[in-house]
Amino acid sequence: MNRENIAVNDEELKKQLVTIDNLRYELKGKELFYYIETFGCLMNEKDSEKLSGVLREIGYVETQSIKQADFILYNTCCIRDNAERKIYGRVGNIKGLKQKKPDLIVSICGCMMQQEHVLEKLQKKYKREVDIIFGTHNIYKLAELLSTRMEVGHQIIDIWREHKDIVEDLPSVRKYKHKAAVNIMYGCDNFCSYCVVPYVRGRERSRDSGSIIQEIKDLVNDGVKEVMLLGQNVNSYGKGLSEDITFAKLLREVNKIEGLKRIRYMTSHPKDFTDEVIYAIRDCEKVCNYVHLPIQSGSTKVLEEMNRKYTKDHYLNLAEKIKKEIDGVAITTDIIVGFPCETEEDFLETLDVIRKVGYDSAFTYIYSKRTGTKAATMGGEVSAEVINERFNRLILETDKIQKENNAKRNGITYKVLVEELSKSDSKLLTGRTEQNILVHFEGDESLIGELVDVEIFETKGHYLNGKLKTES
Ligand code: SF4
Repeated sequence: MNRENIAVNDEELKKQLVTIDNLRYELKGKELFYYIETFGCLMNEKDSEKLSGVLREIGYVETQSIKQADFILYNTCCIRDNAERKIYGRVGNIKGLKQKKPDLIVSICGCMMQQEHVLEKLQKKYKREVDIIFGTHNIYKLAELLSTRMEVGHQIIDIWREHKDIVEDLPSVRKYKHKAAVNIMYGCDNFCSYCVVPYVRGRERSRDSGSIIQEIKDLVNDGVKEVMLLGQNVNSYGKGLSEDITFAKLLREVNKIEGLKRIRYMTSHPKDFTDEVIYAIRDCEKVCNYVHLPIQSGSTKVLEEMNRKYTKDHYLNLAEKIKKEIDGVAITTDIIVGFPCETEEDFLETLDVIRKVGYDSAFTYIYSKRTGTKAATMGGEVSAEVINERFNRLILETDKIQKENNAKRNGITYKVLVEELSKSDSKLLTGRTEQNILVHFEGDESLIGELVDVEIFETKGHYLNGKLKTES
């Protein structure tokens, strides 16, 4: 278990640590299990690591069986409608569990809880099922909320509309020994017209670079080889800080950390992707030659409606420059199909960008109307039939290009960070190249967490098969 070294608010931190100690004492001798399910993005996964850390410190042991759990926690996402529906489904199923186990405590947190209409529904419909509700700004308070719930015996809700203090020097549990995510900033100021993130995660706040560097050094000392620098829009890192720092400068600083092998980051906004960032990726040997550059739509008209603040031409020039400057770079993207008023011509512009950039992979989504966003009131909805037809064409195109790109990788030897045993064949190991491409190869389990050379002998649509060469 590692501790993140950002003691921004000492008083709050002390209060939480005392509460953790008190709960541990109170619950001593009881065999208690927690079950946690995380929806959505890497930010939520990172938050769940912190929440798990607090629960373990109190004395809970993680279980994969919801029936065994004494504490159930759902960390929610509200980016798409289906993620929300899943949560209501989960909560609906809790009733039976609660009847069998009256002491079971159920908690829901995360982005979905920051929305008024969700809170109303949970308060009205699920008062008995859900014991603790909290949002995105106060996850560090889990121990205090649990303690209060045990004391009062009824549903408690603690939602902050805005971020107050960052309190992060609390226990955290890492899923992988060799890789870790590190928050470099929180929130987003961009207000893309389809997105709820600025409403549920608040305004942009960057962490000071010293605390980020210290955290990464501690992680490296604990066996971490690869870090993922996390933020909704990492390219605007540093705004509002008193120190002279940008994302590019931060990359160069992190690159100097001894023992660290790989640096990744997520997510980049094309409007803030400066030359300075491109040169930092090019110059820093530890920064992976992999750029995730969400386009969302290839139509300048739709991009304007989305409030993305770049045009198709700007994006294409940027992608060209990235390819020219960063040797062997892989570019991936996010695409939304069926944004309000998207015409066939607009969609063809998207296909045009896909062909011109030649993405190594694309995350494709059907537009999901989110309450409270500007796009939700735009009208001009595209019919489900048209959306599905476009979506299928999009998948065909992105898959074809990904396959063509992967075919060119045959015979090449890549440095692969070994992640785990293959899920489908335990004789195989699975790892990732710098370009974030999945590689399967035969090897010993002891190589997990190591960087090895793998020569590719077979290329598939979404992954590569290779042969282990030498350890490095
Ligand atoms: S940049 Fe746009 S899509 Fe990304 S989190 Fe911010 S508002 Fe949402």
